[in-house]
Amino acid sequence: MNELREKAKELLQNGTVKVIIGYVEGTTPNRTKPFIARSVEDADKLVFNKFCVNNLAVYLTRKEFKQNGVVGIVAKGCDVKAIVQLIQENQVNKDDVYIIGMNCSGVVSDLGEEFNENTVAVKCLHCTVHTPHLHHTLLGTLEETPKHEDKNFALMQKIDSMTAEERFDFWEAEFEKCVKCYACRQACPMCYCEKCIADKSVPRWIESSAHKRGNFAWNMIRAFHLAGRCVGCNECERACPAEIPLSLLNRKMGMTAKKEFDYVAGMNLNTPTLVGTYDVNDREDFIK
Ligand code: SF4
Ligand code: SF4
Ligand code: SF4
Repeated sequence: MNELREKAKELLQNGTVKVIIGYVEGTTPNRTKPFIARSVEDADKLVFNKFCVNNLAVYLTRKEFKQNGVVGIVAKGCDVKAIVQLIQENQVNKDDVYIIGMNCSGVVSDLGEEFNENTVAVKCLHCTVHTPHLHHTLLGTLEETPKHEDKNFALMQKIDSMTAEERFDFWEAEFEKCVKCYACRQACPMCYCEKCIADKSVPRWIESSAHKRGNFAWNMIRAFHLAGRCVGCNECERACPAEIPLSLLNRKMGMTAKKEFDYVAGMNLNTPTLVGTYDVNDREDFIK
């Protein structure tokens, strides 16, 4: 904690960054909340622990931070994936962000819980970026990540083994719970369009009321807009008040991108984006 505060003070004091997006303690136990440190005094409030769940990269595309000098950001490896993907998509200028990378052994799946082998987030079970793959400063030490059975993967396999009709019924029942709050979109670092297709009224592509047809359209369109771009931070699922298992869709899309195109979102600054490139050798036989 001290090394984070000291580094943040140094960066703010010597003018390397204008602000630092980080975490402070929440108002109840086992919670943190996002915080913008603008001064040395603010830097003294920053924390990093197992409850730093939010993917703060979501703030980098907000107009308050764009073209407003270099922004510092406290980032776990999975958050750095979002930053890399945003740079690849030309939404963040790599010279305008200073990454304070945090070695990370895992976070809780939801705020308020104790951190242990039962509550560690599913994404942490398969993490390949405990040490952030891009950073300007690296802080923190690694411990062993507690493990539990990946029930999410077992459910994915079950859905995969269903017939197309059964799968349709499964997702129709899940999407029926959607209340069209768009919290999934707001929490997602990769959902940065100035005007989302869901908000367009001329023409209206997606019905705005929360009923079966519009809910299906919204969730499928969002899943496909994130295909090959989702970095698997699971913030959309955590934000969803209807507890729709959005991570199943995201994970399946990510696995397909890896299998068909050998592409993993947010891993390499120098790789062109998957949806922004065309290769005559791209396989097409999986399109049915
Ligand atoms: S996925 Fe990796 S970097 Fe992200 S919170 Fe889990 S252990 Fe940390
Ligand atoms: S779709 Fe969900 S898991 Fe993927 S990047 Fe957005 S918030 Fe993270
Ligand atoms: S957060 Fe959940 S309920 Fe809200 S729009 Fe997204 S899927 Fe629907």
